Amino acid sequence: MRQLVGRLRQGLAELFQLPDGYEVALGNGGATSFWDSACLSLIERRSQHLVFGEFSSKFAKASAASPFLEEPELITAEFGSHPLPQASSDVDAYCLTHNETSTGVAMPIRRLGTPDQLVLVDATSAAGGLAVELAEADAYYFSPQKCFASEGGLWLALLSPAAIERIFRVEDSDRWVPPSLSLRSSVENSRQNQTYNTPAIATLFLLLHQVEQVLAKGGLAWAAARSKESSDIVYGWAEERAWASPFVREPGQRSPVVATIDLVPEIPAQRVSDVLRQNGIVDTDSYRKLGRNQLRLGLFPAVDPEDVTQMTRSVDWVVEALSG
Ligand SMILES: *Cc1c(COP(=O)(O)O)cnc(C)c1O
Repeated sequence: MRQLVGRLRQGLAELFQLPDGYEVALGNGGATSFWDSACLSLIERRSQHLVFGEFSSKFAKASAASPFLEEPELITAEFGSHPLPQASSDVDAYCLTHNETSTGVAMPIRRLGTPDQLVLVDATSAAGGLAVELAEADAYYFSPQKCFASEGGLWLALLSPAAIERIFRVEDSDRWVPPSLSLRSSVENSRQNQTYNTPAIATLFLLLHQVEQVLAKGGLAWAAARSKESSDIVYGWAEERAWASPFVREPGQRSPVVATIDLVPEIPAQRVSDVLRQNGIVDTDSYRKLGRNQLRLGLFPAVDPEDVTQMTRSVDWVVEALSG
């Protein structure tokens, strides 16, 4: 187990070309659990959140519900686009989402504010599929079941020295932190290549193999180029169809790893997804709560761009059959 975690921490450090002093930490619970831990140990008094989809809303809600934190600053944008963070002297953490999986919007990650303000980035569906400069973030955290083609239930975080300092200082204060949510304990255990409680070995195994495979192929740049190629295929295809269009209007905000494609009302997307599913092409459904007539397609680096081309042909076939 320790060898597995050791190789994984090493592999992630290499994949993300971690700046000096950054550490790889991990723990059970996934990104959702990391939000609760972040409220406990990374946000000191008040956070700012960019809210532009289901996942970014959830973290903002967790912060708002924390009785020991002040009401967070929220900056919202219409779903299908992203807002920009604003420097504010009244917050100690900026909470960004690299890729909003529910809407298919990606945003650039850039540091802002002062050195004592942390930049916390939910990279759950971005990490391993989008280029990033880790020096721009203090906590870049994710679960392994998206770009890393593994299973859920685990979180990983790339932490800056400032983030680690914050974690230890807040947990030294009189705020009560439940042991299973303690980031300090995660950092201390990760340094020993272990976790606070037992993780699933299969999850770590699959994640490690994906990380090592991507490194062997050319690293993050290779993986990002592969998803970009897949997404160019999908967005280009949608723009050439009278009955389909990318949901995200601004091309620069369209995610290379999760494409959302609106269909015209005459073609029910749910029906298309159902037929695709009956024929072995699964998980093309839109995000339920978004409530749009839409296909949502995962274009993570483990997906072969040729399969993506084949999928667009399959959708063409189904739509033609349904319209005929
Ligand atoms: C999937 C996802 C989450 C939730 O991850 P869990 O592992 O289910 O906790 C959070 N944020 C984003 C952006 C996601 O895509």
